[in-house]
Amino acid sequence: MSNKEKPEWLEELEKVPLTSRLRRKESLKRFNTWRVGGVAECLIDVVNAEDLSLLLPFISKHRISWFILGKGSNLFIPDTVWPGIILHLSGEFKSWVPIEENNSSTCKNRVTAGAALADVTFAQRCVAQGWGGMEFLIGIPGTIGGAVAMNAGAHGGETADFLQEAEWMDMEGNLHSSARQNLEFRYRYSDLMGNYGRIITSAVFELQQSDPETVKKKLLECQQFRMEKQPFNQPSCGSVFKNPPGDFAAHLIETSGLKGKIRGGAQISPIHANFIVNLGNASSTDILSLIDTVRETVFSKHSINLESEVQILQSSVYG
Ligand SMILES: Cc1cc2nc3c(=O)[nH]c(=O)nc-3n(C[C@H](O)[C@H](O)[C@H](O)COP(=O)(O)OP(=O)(O)OC[C@H]3O[C@@H](n4cnc5c(N)ncnc54)[C@H](O)[C@@H]3O)c2cc1C
Repeated sequence: MSNKEKPEWLEELEKVPLTSRLRRKESLKRFNTWRVGGVAECLIDVVNAEDLSLLLPFISKHRISWFILGKGSNLFIPDTVWPGIILHLSGEFKSWVPIEENNSSTCKNRVTAGAALADVTFAQRCVAQGWGGMEFLIGIPGTIGGAVAMNAGAHGGETADFLQEAEWMDMEGNLHSSARQNLEFRYRYSDLMGNYGRIITSAVFELQQSDPETVKKKLLECQQFRMEKQPFNQPSCGSVFKNPPGDFAAHLIETSGLKGKIRGGAQISPIHANFIVNLGNASSTDILSLIDTVRETVFSKHSINLESEVQILQSSVYG
C-alpha cells in the first residue's frame, strides 16, 4: 500500500473512466436484510454494462477480493472489514422490457428484466399486465439477479421454471446469453453464481396470459401466507437452511428444542424455526453462533447434516 489508508489498487481504480459511484469504507449493514456486518473497503453502484465490463477485468488483473450483491436477502456478512470490492448493480440493471411477439395468438408473454430489478416490483408489474406464474416473487425481498442465481422459489414454483435465457458477464468483461436448457438449476442452486465468476445482468422470463384480478388474487394469497407463517417484520435472511430430502429444516430445528433460542441479539424465530431474526442489536457473531448450534444440535438429535441456504460474504459458497 502506498499509504496506510488506501490500497494501491484503489489509486488505480480511481483512474478507470466509470460513470458508476464508488463508495469507500461503506457500512454493509444497509446492504443486507439481517442488518448486520462490517465495512467494505470499496462498494460500487454499477449503473451499466459498460462499467461492469471495465470493472471485472480490473478486478481479475489486480486479484482483488470481490463479491456481487443483490439485496443481500440471502447473505451472511461477517462483522469484519471486507478488504476488496463489493459490486452492487443499479441504474440500467433495473430495467423491465416486455418483448413484442409477432404471433398475437400466443397466450405466453415474455419480458426481459434487469438483474437489479426488485422481485417485488417484478411481481407487481406482472399483476398489472395480467401475467401469471411468478406471483411467488412478491414474498421474496431480493433482486432478479439473486432470484436466478439462487433459483429462488416458493409456493411450489421456482425461478428456473419461467426462465428462458439469462445474460451474464464473465470476468474478462464479455457478455454471454445462455438458454435455460444450457444452465444448471437445482433447489436453491444455479451455475450462474457470482462465485463462479458469472455475473447475471438480465434474464428473459415467459409468463402465462391471465387476467389481472386472478393474478392479483394469487399474489395476495402469497402475501397472506407470509404474514401468517413468517416473522415478516423482523430483520432476517429468510430460511437459513435448505430443506433436506423428505423433511423440513424448520421441523427438525423445532423438534430439536431450539425454537425461540436467543444468543446475544439474535433469536431462532418462535414463529418459524428456520428463520434467525435480529432482535435489534444482533452481531454477525451472534447469528453465526446460532447457526452452529442448530447444525450441531440437529445432527446430534436427528443424524441429519443441515446445509446452509444462506450464502456467506466470501469467495466460496458457505455450507
Ligand atoms: C423474509 C425473507 C423471505 C424469503 N423467502 C424466500 C423464499 O420464499 N424463497 C426463496 O427462494 N428465498 C427466500 N428468501 C431468500 C432470498 O430473498 C432469495 O434467495 C433471493 O433470491 C436473494 O436475492 P438477493 O438479490 O437478495 O441476493 P443476495 O442475497 O444479495 O445474494 C445471494 C447470492 O446470489 C448471488 N448473486 C446476487 N446477484 C447476482 C448476480 N447479478 N449475478 C450473479 N450472482 C448474484 C450473490 O453473489 C450471492 O451468492 C427470503 C429472504 C427473506 C429475508
